[in-house]
Amino acid sequence: MGNYRYITNRTLLNKAGEENGNIAVLVPNESSTAKIRYKCPECGHSEQTEKEWKRPFSMKCSACGFLIRLPKLKGKTKEKKSASA
Ligand SMILES: [Zn+2]
Repeated sequence: MGNYRYITNRTLLNKAGEENGNIAVLVPNESSTAKIRYKCPECGHSEQTEKEWKRPFSMKCSACGFLIRLPKLKGKTKEKKSASA
């Protein structure tokens, strides 16, 4: 633990917009190579692979060619108060 500068786990949508796959990405501190484990939402193929890390990150399923992108995280601290006191 603590040896990665980037870690993420995401749910992936297929073309129909269904949550049918996922991807985990790990980027070690002193490396520009991302370790990836994914399950393709389109064809169900799963594997572990490595790829050069850059953002925005995307890759293709090696089985069906489906383009897998890391969805951006939505800002969760969005506190806009329109009501005045
Ligand atoms: Zn696929």
